Amino acid sequence: MIEMPPDRLFIGGEWEQGTGSEIVSIFPADGSVNRVLHGASVADGERAIERAVRAQSDPAWRRLKPHERARFLYRIADGIEANAERIAHIQSRDTGKTLRETTALAASAAGTFRYFGAVLETTDETLTAQRGDALTMSVHEPLGLVGAITPWNSPIASDAQKVAPALAAGNAVLLKPASWSPLVSLELARIVEAAGLPKGLFSVLPGSGREIGNLLVEHPRIAKISFTGGTETGRALALKAAQKLMPVSLELGGKSPTIVFADADIEQALAGVLFGIFSSTGQSCIAGARLFVERPSCDKFVDRLVAATRRLRIGHPFEPETQVAPLIHFDHRDSVAAHVRRALDDGAELLAGGCEPEGEAYRQGAYYMPTILAGVSNAARICREEVFGPVLVVLPFDDEADVIAQANDNDYGLACGIWTRDFPKSWRVGRAINAGTVWVNTYKQFSISTPFGGEKASGLGREKGREGIRAYMAQKSFYTDLSGAPHPWAAETVQGA
Ligand code: NAP
Repeated sequence: MIEMPPDRLFIGGEWEQGTGSEIVSIFPADGSVNRVLHGASVADGERAIERAVRAQSDPAWRRLKPHERARFLYRIADGIEANAERIAHIQSRDTGKTLRETTALAASAAGTFRYFGAVLETTDETLTAQRGDALTMSVHEPLGLVGAITPWNSPIASDAQKVAPALAAGNAVLLKPASWSPLVSLELARIVEAAGLPKGLFSVLPGSGREIGNLLVEHPRIAKISFTGGTETGRALALKAAQKLMPVSLELGGKSPTIVFADADIEQALAGVLFGIFSSTGQSCIAGARLFVERPSCDKFVDRLVAATRRLRIGHPFEPETQVAPLIHFDHRDSVAAHVRRALDDGAELLAGGCEPEGEAYRQGAYYMPTILAGVSNAARICREEVFGPVLVVLPFDDEADVIAQANDNDYGLACGIWTRDFPKSWRVGRAINAGTVWVNTYKQFSISTPFGGEKASGLGREKGREGIRAYMAQKSFYTDLSGAPHPWAAETVQGA
């Protein structure tokens, strides 16, 4: 049995009990309590900020060469790998995700730290084209203190995607994980500490979004907020950031279309659509929640999809066979169920699921059946609102123009999946869809080297990729005189003076 992290927060490099309100982490497979934590109070947050200011401005950190700073990231990556089993276990307890998925998330987090270490070591500064008697250069410097605010659905991966590039860029980072999933972020703090990162540069502050999240957003010493979470929270936070003229990056919600053309490889499309919506029990920003199927093949495809959905293995997160685990929390399960009920009230037809699974094994857990709805138009609420659960809506389409119009007729613009054997068609459609990521004949594949982010209500900015580090840097330009002469504007004036 793996022990859960103790009731201590990582406040500016010190393990201290929080003085804020209680946070209860539960195991959603049976409702048992993993840990009751004393969350961070505003005073705890302010102490972390003071320590971060000192640590970040310390020449011992600021003057490190890129390859020297990169060593910390490599050591953190090694630490995550060495503790992968423990991290996966804690995250599965905290979120209810399958061990298979949390093991992959731990590996991805290690890869993220290693990647940004390598990016740091290999990113050059620029000597710009000379246009006068000065040597012109553009260099990049840390912003200072970065507030990272993350959601509960893939905590270790979301944390790494912010903490790794922000530390690589030379900043101090204050991480506020979601209140439903605080434990794995505290485990990350233990690994960062063991990697020898100077005290104060990293804090983990589980606490209420309204208090600690808000403190990070409003505090004058915080130079940037990197946020992943819901669109409403992101929008409110961006308004406050605008008052401070502080940059924000926002990775927000989605209602992504998956598109199956009649010429698709049907087995490949079926597997991709199922994985796209029902893996992670649908709790994924990029979940392919609106399925568009070309009309001539629609009925047959949907029949097979429904049959396959009924065969999905719903079960305990620690069972290796499980495909669909419980939702993160009983409140979230209730919210998913309410979305489905409203859709049925709006006239949707229920093709699969729509209820909790029956049986003793599921009775104590926050389980919900993979659900397929049909019979509504793309204007229905269930096609507009993010459910963030295992709920798919099927919509037929007539041709390319029709599916592009329907797919884009939505507030969100995060991702899109296209299944077809016609490469030029996938290119045309993919280019026309408002989405930050397009998958063709696959879905939900990720690589740290490929930028990720959303359009419209799905966010601002991009994470990952070589340029990901730049989001945590300030650019500075240098002009160094090469003429050796006084400026002509005042040369005569100074001669006689
Ligand atoms: P959320 O309610 O917006 O919360 C996200 C984070 O913001 C949490 O740490 C939360 O703290 C904090 N927060 C809440 N109110 C705040 C405030 N007023 N000021 C500052 N911080 C505040 O989202 P969630 O329910 O955790 O996550 C689900 C959402 O995340 C979905 O919409 C999903 O699509 C999105 N998401 C997007 C991506 C992406 O990359 N685009 C990836 C994953 C998830 P508390 O937990 O304490 O409330």
